[in-house]
Amino acid sequence: MRVRRVVTTRAGGRSTGPFARFNLSAGVGDDPAAVAANRRRLADELRVRGVVFLGQVHGAQVAVVDTVPRPGDPDRPGTDAAVTALPGVALAVLAADCVPVLLADPRAGVVGVAHAGRVGAAAGVLPATLTAMAGLGAHVADCEALLGPAVCGACYEVPAAMRDEVEAALPGSAARTRRGTPGLDLRAGLRAQLVGAGVGRIGVDPRCTVEDPDLYSYRRDHRTGRLAAVTWLDSAPA
Ligand SMILES: [Zn+2]
Repeated sequence: MRVRRVVTTRAGGRSTGPFARFNLSAGVGDDPAAVAANRRRLADELRVRGVVFLGQVHGAQVAVVDTVPRPGDPDRPGTDAAVTALPGVALAVLAADCVPVLLADPRAGVVGVAHAGRVGAAAGVLPATLTAMAGLGAHVADCEALLGPAVCGACYEVPAAMRDEVEAALPGSAARTRRGTPGLDLRAGLRAQLVGAGVGRIGVDPRCTVEDPDLYSYRRDHRTGRLAAVTWLDSAPA
């Protein structure tokens, strides 16, 4: 089955001020009417049956989606990942520096998404998502992953103790910032975790959210919106 992937930018929406313009998060203080309009536009442009949004609490809880979502459904509470085998049902993960991860087994017809920030990545949200995908029939060797735009290691400065703690939970994530201070490269750690799990194909969107003004960055702007990384199974022939 053909797998589709989309990563949004700030362009094209109705939000204004610090949220301009295509904010897709209902939890950052933006005008709810603008967010609803942006979400409607996303679903329309993707031509999907519905889009699933997650509550995102920096945990490792996975939602198994087995019904078509309706517009206006609440974001799945307490979840930072989702999996589905339903064609045309898009899974969206919201981020502004955290790593959005898109997963798929095109042969089995299963997709997954995960919101992997520092806390969730260390808590094992990615292995939990792969396990949930296997529960729907996915095989890890057939899985593809895309790590979306996120804060890069050169920009992500943290205290040395925090770097060491995250490195212990997610080996490969320790980095050095542009200023020569302790940093984190979560995408490097997540990539190593996916390789270790046996995921066959791994792509990385190299864009840094802090450095790219077209993307939302919490570290840069604090009060801001969230981009979406979205994946779904296309039932049309490839
Ligand atoms: Zn950067």
